[in-house]
Amino acid sequence: MNDKRSFGFTTTILHSDRRKAIEHGSLHKPVHTSVAFGYSDARQLASVFQGKEPGFRYGRQGNPTVAALEEKLTRMEDGVSTICFGTGMGAIGAIFQALLRSGDHVVSSAFLFGNTNSLWQTVASQGVGVAFVDATDVANVEAALTADTRLVFVETIANPRTQVADLARIGALCRERGILFVVDNTMTTPYLFRPKNVGAGLVVNALTKSIAGHGVALGGSLTDSGEYDWQNYPHIAASYQRNPPAQWGMAQIRAKGLRDFGASLGPEAAHHIALGAETLALRMERSCGNALALARMLEADPRVAAVHYPGLASHPQHALAGELFRSFGPLFSFVLEDGIDCFDYLNRLQIGISASNLGDTRTLVIPVAHTIFFEMGAQRRASMGIAESLIRVSVGIEDTDDLLADFSGALQA
Ligand SMILES: *Cc1c(COP(=O)(O)O)cnc(C)c1O
Repeated sequence: MNDKRSFGFTTTILHSDRRKAIEHGSLHKPVHTSVAFGYSDARQLASVFQGKEPGFRYGRQGNPTVAALEEKLTRMEDGVSTICFGTGMGAIGAIFQALLRSGDHVVSSAFLFGNTNSLWQTVASQGVGVAFVDATDVANVEAALTADTRLVFVETIANPRTQVADLARIGALCRERGILFVVDNTMTTPYLFRPKNVGAGLVVNALTKSIAGHGVALGGSLTDSGEYDWQNYPHIAASYQRNPPAQWGMAQIRAKGLRDFGASLGPEAAHHIALGAETLALRMERSCGNALALARMLEADPRVAAVHYPGLASHPQHALAGELFRSFGPLFSFVLEDGIDCFDYLNRLQIGISASNLGDTRTLVIPVAHTIFFEMGAQRRASMGIAESLIRVSVGIEDTDDLLADFSGALQA
């Protein structure tokens, strides 16, 4: 295949490996388990180390199987380059390790994945100021900016309360101020949304979730969209400024974030993730359709106190989400009326599994305040809009009628 015409999302994922002749005509990139890469000319090894020619040197910094996945992700996000990490948190942690210094300032959405919230607390304890804002309104982001703000961080649809960030306006604000805009695209995936289109410079994906979909491999990635001018970033070390400016950020992240801290993705996991990614679009269509059907059914039931899903007209950012995303995502959360214990309800489900992953092909449910958001305490939970009996549902690709019967049947007991 040549690059002369552009293909659709799934065609591109399925056929992008073949564009580079794969060993023996293999249709899948093989799993290269070698940690080291030998060169018959020692001078060539030296020039690979000095960045004068491309090549692999040691598995922590790069591997051919991982590189094939990185290229796939770059195409999925329509970006310039991608770096994979051993987990989604490894990818977000690398932003801190590679780009932030004591005295810097970050503006983050207050509505965050629990571990990212915890990471920002760690960052704050190490001398970086972190302002948490309600990012559903750009005015709150603008009010929090300081002269030291290096980046603005938001999730597309926040996990678990499904608040939708004011993405396009925050992107425009960051562009105007020359600030790096980082978007965690895990909940939407590049199939529903490309953060590049709203000016995000760096895109985070927790590959563990919908991109892999099967829940058998952990992984994370950062994609440089090409939207940010790294010449505006104050802490690019001189050694990375030897590259063309478009590569500065990723050169520093690969060295400082990946090489020095070592949160590398293994080749076997990369292979599993690449296989899962082939069916991302099909799975998202099915699980988003299931999520909408379930959310509508529960909202109409008097035994349910609240349902949070951007696909419902009652959601505060329903219109915004409709403008931004191809559909409304595979995740919703809800609160039962007083008198129905959330644990008992979960125990009555036959299909929904009480488990903490999301973006899986199987429907997973979790009582958020008692598990993944337990450690942060009731006060911070309340500030994120998380009720103590909130149930998060990551909707899978099961048959819709089976899910509807399961979730309504559990109400009736
Ligand atoms: C799960 C998740 C992460 C972290 O990914 P891991 O692979 O579990 O480390 C980051 N952001 C969001 C929105 C997530 O849902």
